[in-house]
Amino acid sequence: MTYWDKWLDVPAAGLLFKILKIRQKLRQIQDAIGMDEARLGEYRLAQLKSVMAHAWSQIPLYREKWRAAGLRPEDVQSLDDLAKFPILSKEELRNAPPAATGLSRDRHYVFKTTGSSGSPISIAYDRDKGFYEIALISTFSINLHFQLRLKKGMSILVLDDEAMEILPAIEFPRFKKFLFDALEPVENQIAHINRVRPDYLVTYPSVLKNIALRVQADQIKIHQPALLMTTGESHDDHTRKIIGQTFAGELIDGYAATETGVIAVECPRHNGLHVLDYRAIIEIVDDEGRPVPPGQSGNVVATDLVNRAFPLIRYSGMGDIAGYRPGRCTCGLRALPLLDRIEGRKIDSILLPDNRIVHPYRLTLLVQDLPGVQKFQIRQETQDEILVLIVRDPAGAREASSAEDLPPYRELKKRLQDVLGGGMTVRLRFVDDIPRSENSHKYQTVVSLVHPPGRS
Ligand SMILES: [Zn+2]
Repeated sequence: MTYWDKWLDVPAAGLLFKILKIRQKLRQIQDAIGMDEARLGEYRLAQLKSVMAHAWSQIPLYREKWRAAGLRPEDVQSLDDLAKFPILSKEELRNAPPAATGLSRDRHYVFKTTGSSGSPISIAYDRDKGFYEIALISTFSINLHFQLRLKKGMSILVLDDEAMEILPAIEFPRFKKFLFDALEPVENQIAHINRVRPDYLVTYPSVLKNIALRVQADQIKIHQPALLMTTGESHDDHTRKIIGQTFAGELIDGYAATETGVIAVECPRHNGLHVLDYRAIIEIVDDEGRPVPPGQSGNVVATDLVNRAFPLIRYSGMGDIAGYRPGRCTCGLRALPLLDRIEGRKIDSILLPDNRIVHPYRLTLLVQDLPGVQKFQIRQETQDEILVLIVRDPAGAREASSAEDLPPYRELKKRLQDVLGGGMTVRLRFVDDIPRSENSHKYQTVVSLVHPPGRS
């Protein structure tokens, strides 16, 4: 917080102060990208010490955990010392108060995960982190990282009131005209792209895939953005192939989470993902929390260096698997280490009996505010039937044996039926746990074994 923060919400003048904030954050990002490895290491250590001292003084959860482990923030004298500290699980974050003590309401936002990870959680960002994240995804920053000269961007994302994706529109309402809802029908998304004609498009792989399938099926003309930036789900080769058949632009993947913001971006030469070391520390650890050497994969544990509302320190809750690549890249981002593909973020679209496609987030959003659902999986095995597997919340009604007898589940069935239409049979089933995807410790929230006609 700085002395001019009180001006941020003053009519008219507020906009100027917000722009100054963004410029300040962009300068920080630009300086960090220009650093060599040694200088970047010193910078990260200073940031880490500061965020840990803050967490110790403001967040009782960390103080208690670290005390129990016999540790204090002063025990961090090098970046390696971070690995001595206990890991923060998703459950601990879910049960913690959302923001640091003493942070007033107008000084932070609270966002909720989309539920694509199975069970939503809330995370607070202080406003400075908000401006940092907006700066990081700005055109200036994209051009800086990829040495491009793009001008106009556009996003097709889930624009839920509690989604982190609406952050730019909260601070700068005029950006709303470049933000489109991923849950709108595909034909509207195609029309938006053709109207805005963006240089770059930010969206989920599943959205690009659904657009590509429609463009191919109906032989529609679509504007070609020079850069397609994807986030939220990893793309399999099948998805990349379908997207590549329709879109000629460069496809670049980003690694972002609601809890952290953007923490890695794909190398422009496709050598893996460059970790944005200057804003987060990504560790790869085994199941006991011990560091795994480069070349091997393990669990992703993230430390966010820019959040003061609820700094995430050694957070494992994103549930991703990745591994560092040995050696350095030769591209413009060579000071930033390379991570091998993130596994475990696969999500499918649902194909309706009339061959229309429903984006998976349309369905996961229907589940996330329902009580009594701890985990779920929406499965489509045939084109006219959906099975919803539900792991009940221990706090929920346990005695009933049939899912459809209980009000929250009856409501869920109704909501799904409304979206999927009468041609689709919806069944619910209680299970003890959700089966994991092959080669992944993460489970998929939406699985479809039905492929659009003409595709395999
Ligand atoms: Zn590279």
